[in-house]
Amino acid sequence: MFKVNKDRCIGCGACVGTANEVFDFDDDNLATVVNQPTEENINDAKEALENCPTNAIIEEE
Ligand code: SF4
Repeated sequence: MFKVNKDRCIGCGACVGTANEVFDFDDDNLATVVNQPTEENINDAKEALENCPTNAIIEEE
């Protein structure tokens, strides 16, 4: 299960650009998970996690 730690997110938008089916901006212009990744976009979601500049994206069991 993917989550965004809002305390770390700086709203750079990288994750939304990489995996826009999974991540979108919330009302505060911080990233949020709108859909958990599917088989089709799990690689994009993992790429977004790896590339987040503040390590705000978390994957939990
Ligand atoms: S890449 Fe990280 S810091 Fe940038 S919007 Fe996404 S969660 Fe926030």
